[in-house]
Amino acid sequence: MLLTSCRAPARTPRVVTATPSPTSETALAQITSIPTSGAAGDVVAQITRAPDNTFLATLTPIPTITESPTSAITNTPTNTVEPTATTPPTETLIPTATETPLPTNTPTQTATPQLPPLPEVLGSPTISQTIKVPILMYHYVSTPPEEADKYRINLSVEPDTFREQMKWLKDRGYSTVDLYDLIELLALSGEPPEKVVVITFDDGYLDNYTNAYPILEEFGFTGTFFIPTEFIDFGYDGYMTWEMIEEMAAKGHRFESHTKNHPDLSTLKRNDHVWQILGSQETLAAHLGYKPRFLSYPSGRYSDLTLEMVEALSLWGAVTTQGGTWRGFHDRYEWKRTRVSYGTSLGDFEKVFGEK
Ligand SMILES: [Zn+2]
Repeated sequence: MLLTSCRAPARTPRVVTATPSPTSETALAQITSIPTSGAAGDVVAQITRAPDNTFLATLTPIPTITESPTSAITNTPTNTVEPTATTPPTETLIPTATETPLPTNTPTQTATPQLPPLPEVLGSPTISQTIKVPILMYHYVSTPPEEADKYRINLSVEPDTFREQMKWLKDRGYSTVDLYDLIELLALSGEPPEKVVVITFDDGYLDNYTNAYPILEEFGFTGTFFIPTEFIDFGYDGYMTWEMIEEMAAKGHRFESHTKNHPDLSTLKRNDHVWQILGSQETLAAHLGYKPRFLSYPSGRYSDLTLEMVEALSLWGAVTTQGGTWRGFHDRYEWKRTRVSYGTSLGDFEKVFGEK
């Protein structure tokens, strides 16, 4: 793992230590807290990781009013209560064993593991660093049909080839991380782990479920799948179903936004950006139980307005189709990837990892 670091401009960030919620005390292992830079609100960002490697980040107002969950809501995402600094918790706030809590934040369908509500704004790192972590980009993982043109062929990787690539990674000790892991690492100025890779798939094709998913599972890897949500909603041929996506999500694979219907974002106005990006996030949230925070620009196309909008919509990052393996917090909305194509040989693949 290569790492370059440089000190950020001198300033004195206000460091506040987060208090774990009752849920995180029992289910999560707290790693650390992010220093907040804003003055208002006395809010702290807390990042924790569950034993199953899901990533949690919450903004916690101080002081925190704790609710005593009953056994009936053990698996319900914790609602964040807006406390006032002067009002101590009273007995009347504690639900009794016989009360049924209102499921106001409960997703309509659940897939485990889930991410609880995430903060609206990600804290800035105290140290600026650039890390080298390949983000592989796949589309189809199947044999191209007879009538396929050169574009369709180029977007495909044969299942045997995909398996060979995954085996190569496994044999050399690589493990998969997701984009939440990367942004967590960069936001917290953490030490980059050795031999990690992000494996992404664009467009939500059916062969991602039938071919790529079993191979990922065989090697203990998790993938990140960028979904144009309307293609799934409308049940288009050749695309995964929501049932498939929920099944994979329950195994720890990530599903992120690829907009609603794959437009050229560089041509869109403000409102259309909101509909395409926020709309797809909300749809995914209804199926996954949490709102995803990453976007893949359809066909790699975006404008300055797009970059403005992804930040305004509180995304944590976005990936392009341009090639590159170095990334930092500062360019999180333009993270480059490594395209794996039909003609990518194992030798080409190995070069991405600097091992040939
Ligand atoms: Zn696409």
